[in-house]
Amino acid sequence: MNEQQFIPFLQQLKQLSPSQRQRLHHTLDDCETSTEEVLTIKATLRKCPHCESTSLRPWGSSHGLPRYRCACCLKTCNPLTKSPL
Ligand SMILES: [Zn+2]
Repeated sequence: MNEQQFIPFLQQLKQLSPSQRQRLHHTLDDCETSTEEVLTIKATLRKCPHCESTSLRPWGSSHGLPRYRCACCLKTCNPLTKSPL
C-alpha cells in the first residue's frame, strides 16, 4: 500500500466500532505470528549449504543470525547462506 492510500486508510480506522477495532487487533496479531514463524524457519539450519551434510555445530552468531560450522567440510554458514538474501 502506498502513502497516498495509507493516509485515507488511517482516517477510516477512526470510524471503526469497538468490536471492529478488536477484530483488527486480532488480524494484526495473526500477521505478526506468521511473520515470526517464517523468521523461525529461516533462522533454523538443518543441512550444510556447501556439502548437504547434517553435521552442523553451533558456531556463535554474526549479524544477528545464528552461525554454524559444518563438521564435514569445516565451512561456516548461517541460515541465509546461499539463499537469495
Ligand atoms: Zn559442509
